[in-house]
Amino acid sequence: MDAKKTFLSWPVLRQFRSGDFLGRGPAVTSERTRTLEPRTKTADRVVQSVCPYCAVGCGQRVYVKDEKVVQIEGDPDSPISRGRLCPKGSASEQLVNSPIRQTHVLYRRPHGTSWERMDRDTAIDMIADRFVESRRRTWQDADEHGRPLRRTMGIASLGGATLDNEENYLIKKLFTAAGAIQIENQARI
Ligand code: SF4
Repeated sequence: MDAKKTFLSWPVLRQFRSGDFLGRGPAVTSERTRTLEPRTKTADRVVQSVCPYCAVGCGQRVYVKDEKVVQIEGDPDSPISRGRLCPKGSASEQLVNSPIRQTHVLYRRPHGTSWERMDRDTAIDMIADRFVESRRRTWQDADEHGRPLRRTMGIASLGGATLDNEENYLIKKLFTAAGAIQIENQARI
């Protein structure tokens, strides 16, 4: 018999001795389990945040150690989610620390066969230039009977469910002001 294991550590006796009669608590935890400490306990600080995945906007507590995110849990202070996260939100730490996470803008030029890195300002300028050029090229001022249209069918917007109300409001305002009428959101589709 293992030196540490005695007659008193026999499971049934352990259950009675610890008061854990159903064997769902301390009577069935292993030595190793008892020595483990949750990452939430050893973190240097906790930052409140919002889950980035969907428009529900569940509150999160982000646990940081040595300036690195080590765990993300539901925030009980959130009036929206009251401490809960769905399976996707619960896995947010894997999004933050994934070794395959993209942290650079990637561009594949026409007829290109591979992606190349691009700095963010260049990418934003390219998008803005193409937006303005598409609008200019596809602008419809009136139909064939002279009735005013003042629109472009060359620009469309498809938002993701992670956009919140305020972002959707601004997107709708910008695109409508530019004359686009094809404005959709993935959550509605
Ligand atoms: S993905 Fe899940 S946890 Fe995140 S905001 Fe949506 S419902 Fe909440």
